[in-house]
Amino acid sequence: MWCPFCSHDETRVVDSRLTGDGMQIRRRRQCAECGARFNTFEGPELKAPRIIKADGGREAFSETKLRNGMLRALEKRPVETREIERAIRRLLRDISSVEEAEIPSSLLGEWVMRELSRLDQVAYVRFASVYKRFEDVQAFRDLIERLELKGPAVLDQRQGDLLKVPADRTKRPKK
Ligand SMILES: [Zn+2]
Repeated sequence: MWCPFCSHDETRVVDSRLTGDGMQIRRRRQCAECGARFNTFEGPELKAPRIIKADGGREAFSETKLRNGMLRALEKRPVETREIERAIRRLLRDISSVEEAEIPSSLLGEWVMRELSRLDQVAYVRFASVYKRFEDVQAFRDLIERLELKGPAVLDQRQGDLLKVPADRTKRPKK
């Protein structure tokens, strides 16, 4: 590539390493003409639509937000980190394959719930209860009922945990 300082068309790579998060390769380059050194970064291009929030505001999609939301729901649950990472990769793949320039946050929420329901029913209910902001107890009961219909095998051992799900995440019980 061209030197950004003198525009000479020959630069060579003097060092190449992964960035701390492992998501990019950093190359240290040196210009053959003026000797200037500079870095280039190489990573996957993830094209993501902008997110339309419930109030109509738009914001850039944030992988960090997505990850934090999922990790909060999965807190203290017996789910392997590797499984969570796989779910996040699947979500990123779905998001980056969206053709539209923007999508409602509710759609993103549905996708997250789909992944969580595969990983852990308790995490799913936690996320859904915050996300859907159940206005009445009936809506929450309906959800639990639907989960029960899915099969007692899933619920039996976890029923105790389900009952501990706080109705309002802002008033979470102390650990
Ligand atoms: Zn140069």
